[in-house]
Amino acid sequence: GHAVVCRQSRSISSSSRCMSIMPAWVIDRYGSNDVLRYTKNASFPVINYPNEVIVKVFAAGLNPIDVSMRGGYGANTLSMKRDPLNIKLSGSEFPLILGRDVSGVIMECGPDVKYFKEGDEVWAAIPPWKQGSLAEFVVLSGNEISLKPKSLSHVEAAAIPYVATTSWSALVNTGGLNKDNCASKRILILGGSGGVGTFATQMLKAWGAHVTVTCSHNAERFVGELGVDHVVDYTAGPAEEALSALEKFDLVLDNVGGDTERWALGLLKPWSGAKYVTLVTPFLQNTDRLGIADGMMQTAATVATKTIKHLVKGVHYRWGFFAPSGPALDEITDMVDAGQIRAVVEEVFSFSQVSQAFEKVEKGHARGKTVIEIS
Ligand code: NDP
Repeated sequence: GHAVVCRQSRSISSSSRCMSIMPAWVIDRYGSNDVLRYTKNASFPVINYPNEVIVKVFAAGLNPIDVSMRGGYGANTLSMKRDPLNIKLSGSEFPLILGRDVSGVIMECGPDVKYFKEGDEVWAAIPPWKQGSLAEFVVLSGNEISLKPKSLSHVEAAAIPYVATTSWSALVNTGGLNKDNCASKRILILGGSGGVGTFATQMLKAWGAHVTVTCSHNAERFVGELGVDHVVDYTAGPAEEALSALEKFDLVLDNVGGDTERWALGLLKPWSGAKYVTLVTPFLQNTDRLGIADGMMQTAATVATKTIKHLVKGVHYRWGFFAPSGPALDEITDMVDAGQIRAVVEEVFSFSQVSQAFEKVEKGHARGKTVIEIS
């Protein structure tokens, strides 16, 4: 087995060290916003694997997945990930700490951590099966963290990791794009004004792509300032009509889902390797509804059917997923510090206002990111 390291940081206040507790926002059951509870007595996180670090959280970012997880989204699948041998009683994930984005400072490193040391300013996107960042401290593995861009404050930095690693996974790993092959490509982003849209736009523009986005009328100027080449207002009439009048695309990133799948693949250049990558997938819904085994079968069957259906028309159909990645964040740190990507923070809340921050994200119509300043 692996070494168990349970030393605690010297730098935290002696009272919380002795009691091994910390302030956090937790949920004790799934539900609407009233399940969110502030406590000063959450368990202090412990290094369980030698490649882990404890990070003191300075700022945490919220994402739509936090609202979904508050309501129980992914509960079955994530429980399996937390407890693969299924030893624990159901409900053992509580008290659960949400929050997938973190910017903070390393307080302690496990013995196998090589590239980081105490005091390093780092940022990370936290996998959904781990305790989150709405707390004073969080434990992460060394391959999930990255040195935070020096040009950003912690609040700004906390706006980026989850949407950035999702965009990286969807566009680079799944979509096959990179900094050297975008110059002649036409990319369409369905849903340009939210967290993923504002990040993906900037990354693709930095790589020289031609970027078209869909958004509401009142976001047109906002996305224009991020460098978008062409905007289609989806509130003015059917977006598919306006889009099909344009030159065809090399890649569509879909942040909207629903009926977009009916028409978006028709906007791709056929027989050229063009891809439709959607982030709105039923994977966790399937496993919640049908259980792990059947849910995965259903998911595999669905994606295989859709892939084949579209392949005969000469275009590729893919599902995109968030994937935690320190190395991807390293590349993004360089782009941020080079001035190619900026943080798009819509609203900042204090640590006492976490419920209000969830309400804001739940209302939708994001124009960038919602961030919580923790210390
Ligand atoms: P946000 O809430 O930050 O943004 C969503 C944006 O979409 C809003 O700006 C909204 O503004 C806009 N929008 C809503 N309806 C439409 C429409 N019909 N056409 C164009 N724009 C529209 O979400 P994120 O950017 O963080 O995430 C986007 C989607 O991707 C979510 O569904 C999320 O669950 C999913 N996702 C999936 C991941 C995965 O691993 N599969 C990872 C990350 C995200 P307005 O309503 O004012 O137009």
